[in-house]
Amino acid sequence: MSEQCIFCKIISRETPSDILFEDDQLIVIRDINPQTPAHLLIVPKEHITGLDGLMPEQSPLMGHIMLMSKKIAKQAGLADSGWRLVINCGADAKQTVSHLHIHILGGRSMTGIMA
Ligand code: AMP
Ligand code: ZN
Repeated sequence: MSEQCIFCKIISRETPSDILFEDDQLIVIRDINPQTPAHLLIVPKEHITGLDGLMPEQSPLMGHIMLMSKKIAKQAGLADSGWRLVINCGADAKQTVSHLHIHILGGRSMTGIMA
């Protein structure tokens, strides 16, 4: 837990959020500023600053997150239409929250542009 971190505060329930799913390793919340009709965030409970802070021993966690993304996308009704995962890392990628999170985007056809 990092005291000033918004996602740590959501995980500890200090800050309210729309938590759609929770297990021992992660929460899934609705993004407060959605970029697509469905915009969810998978947030590991452990405070990892981002992909750049990821350590080899966290490989099982990342595997769990990838598998959960499939389940969450299905629950959100995106399985047939398609969906996209995005992880921003660092300034050029416009990462704004320094706690690893994975965006699930869907609910409309993407523009086709990756960046
Ligand atoms: P990133 O630019 O990849 O760091 O994305 C951070 C995301 O967190 C943005 O899409 C924000 O809209 C979202 N966000 C920030 N604060 C909150 C919050 N309190 N609840 C839900 N989503 C948030
Ligand atoms: Zn945090």
